[in-house]
Amino acid sequence: MEIPFWAWLVAGGFMTLVSWTVGDLEIFFYLGIMFVVFGLLKLFILGRPKKAQAQPTIHHRPQHHMHPHAAQCPRCHMTISIYDRFCRNCGVRLRQ
Ligand SMILES: [Zn+2]
Repeated sequence: MEIPFWAWLVAGGFMTLVSWTVGDLEIFFYLGIMFVVFGLLKLFILGRPKKAQAQPTIHHRPQHHMHPHAAQCPRCHMTISIYDRFCRNCGVRLRQ
């Protein structure tokens, strides 16, 4: 049973408004505020998994070895950075 965040906000807002209008239902006033806070918390918690889900899909790609700035040493074929001036493995000069 999944209650959407707006249901908490509506129910909480309604409860707060009614108890505030009646005036004699102080406990419902605070309960309504709690509902609204819970609804907002739910909204923020629900907003995060969408972003968190996007990351594993990128993680599953075999991009670990395919670095955008990666190159291969012409001498030893070691994976090096295109910004390296010398090969980290054999020390050959890569750039002038
Ligand atoms: Zn090398």
